[in-house]
Amino acid sequence: MQNNNAATLVACPTCHTKTPWSTENIDRPFCSPRCKLIDLGAWASESYSIPQQTSEEEEIFSEDLIIDPNKSFL
Ligand SMILES: [Zn+2]
Repeated sequence: MQNNNAATLVACPTCHTKTPWSTENIDRPFCSPRCKLIDLGAWASESYSIPQQTSEEEEIFSEDLIIDPNKSFL
């Protein structure tokens, strides 16, 4: 049995997929880290020119790229 009884469903702002609003869903109201990044990238791109991450792993690596001035990123 799943442990998500009577979870409130919200529509992901990025892809509109119904996703449970719960403390276990750290990306709420987004359905996934990817959609969260896409949304953040959408507004961030207005002020900054940064690559759009496509996974949690790339998010971690991109932080290293930003911190390390010896590495260039496009
Ligand atoms: Zn989504």
